[in-house]
Amino acid sequence: MLKNIRVRFAPSPTGHLHIGSVRVAIFNWLYARHNNGTYLMRVEDTDTQRSTKEFLDSQIDSLRWLNLLPDEPIVYQMSRLEEHKKVINKLLESGDAYPCFCEPEELEKKRQEREALGRAYKYEGTCRNKKYTQDDLKKPHAIRFKVPDNLEYLEFNDLIRGPVKIESDQLDDFIIMRRDGAPTYNFVVVADDIFMQITHVIRGEDHIPNTHKQILIYKALNSNIPVFAHLPLILGPAGNKLSKRDATVSVQEYKQQGFLADALFNYLVRLGWSHGDQELFTREEMVKFFDFDHVGKKGAIFDIKKLEWINGVYIRQSDYNSLVNAIKELGNNYLQELEKIWSQEQLKELFEQYKQRATKLLDMVLDIISLHNDPKVLDLALVQKWVTPNSIDLLQAFLQELNKTSDLSHDHLLNLANNTVEKFNLKLVNLAQLLRLALTGKIMSPGVFELIKILGKDSAVNRITFLIKSLK
Ligand code: GLU
Repeated sequence: MLKNIRVRFAPSPTGHLHIGSVRVAIFNWLYARHNNGTYLMRVEDTDTQRSTKEFLDSQIDSLRWLNLLPDEPIVYQMSRLEEHKKVINKLLESGDAYPCFCEPEELEKKRQEREALGRAYKYEGTCRNKKYTQDDLKKPHAIRFKVPDNLEYLEFNDLIRGPVKIESDQLDDFIIMRRDGAPTYNFVVVADDIFMQITHVIRGEDHIPNTHKQILIYKALNSNIPVFAHLPLILGPAGNKLSKRDATVSVQEYKQQGFLADALFNYLVRLGWSHGDQELFTREEMVKFFDFDHVGKKGAIFDIKKLEWINGVYIRQSDYNSLVNAIKELGNNYLQELEKIWSQEQLKELFEQYKQRATKLLDMVLDIISLHNDPKVLDLALVQKWVTPNSIDLLQAFLQELNKTSDLSHDHLLNLANNTVEKFNLKLVNLAQLLRLALTGKIMSPGVFELIKILGKDSAVNRITFLIKSLK
């Protein structure tokens, strides 16, 4: 076990939490827990145009839902602006940064000219060795980082992909503070990671191109360089970066559709990490087994069917209280609605029955709510396959037996049903599917005999009678 590991999840509050981001949070959390380290969070809210309080609250709520809130208070990047400026001054004093007075329009023109020739543009270093006075600093200027001269190449050892090298001629003196005084991303990440004493930076592979620049800043500031681990992206079915067009990407939406937090967590961990063939893990197991040696280098393709399967497994494993808590998270007063129309005893029984074939909690809840009302219209086409010329008589015969009995146990009702179909030389399915339609308006539902017991005799009789009328 490594000592004093400190990792951070650094989302920008410019949208609802994306499942790709949350997977980054999960890998950070697992690495910290596995090493008895500390898992932190930094809100990168410097893009004031796009960052909103609503998105921030939504992201924090998603993390709370997934049990991924940080171990220490959240650091807000915007609140550290003054500190960022102090670090910039330090770099200016040491000569590792310099003011650049070049006109942005001029530079932009040059960039476009280069790009029109199919070449990448690099800053020529016009202001690199210019002497400047304090008075000059009153004129509009950006601050650039001075890439050391004697550098041939830059390399770091990524925990997932091994050595990642670039030639130094791919770098130019990049801007660390814009003309309007706003420090840039590559700079603030380093300043804040140093402040937060981050030992391991675990993030998406889209940040690899930034890493070499960030390492140069660490070196200039004489700070320890953290270990980097860049996770492959989550991909859509065509191998592209997963987008809204391929699948739901917001964690809030998964929550609202009735995915359980632990199921989504389990699915996302397995998306890119493996431990033999094991698919289902408790959090304790994940923490125990997690390592970067078993994180793939290639992007992982998102598979909604697998997520639904895992969700179904987690729903079946959930007891009554955990389902109640999960339904609370669905919002929309679904829990109050259920508790208004069903007794607790009925709800317990309904959950037991419905969870056996559930994939999403919301569908299950809506089915249980709609079961309360007698179906108003029956889609007879659904049962066409099982209707025979004797169906009405068959249903009437069963109804008579049901009316006579006070024993609504599964075995007894099954017995009655078997005896009835035998008399008509039909199969149990001929009766069961009709009963299912009568009781629920659907042909996919839990066992009909269990439903009769939950609904009670009167309601079951009414519903079967309505079907008989509809068949006539
Ligand atoms: N705010 C960045 C993002 O959302 C993360 C930067 C980092 O982890 O260094 O992608």
